[in-house]
Amino acid sequence: MEEEIRQEIHKEGYDKEEEFFFKRNLDLIQKKRRELDAKRRAREAEQSKAAHWMRCPKCGGLMTEISMGDVRVDKCSSCGGLFFDLGELDLMLAEHETIGLFNRLKHLFR
Ligand SMILES: [Zn+2]
Repeated sequence: MEEEIRQEIHKEGYDKEEEFFFKRNLDLIQKKRRELDAKRRAREAEQSKAAHWMRCPKCGGLMTEISMGDVRVDKCSSCGGLFFDLGELDLMLAEHETIGLFNRLKHLFR
């Protein structure tokens, strides 16, 4: 595209100053194109996130948050699948270890 414009400029007899402005406008158009593309990608990512929020990754059913002790888990109302947010499984394992340790200690003092 740039070469076509350059050839057109020479054919029409434009001077160096006009060529400079054509080149500058071309750069501005390309910069604007990149900005609009980036905004579009960000908007698509946001909409995709909203469409998948609290939806089961396996069957698409609605997920509801349930509490298991101090741990919060998302449970699918359709297939019963469970989803742990980042860190929740670690918390559950730590809790399980603590309770296990507590139970072993209880036996020691009986
Ligand atoms: Zn499901």
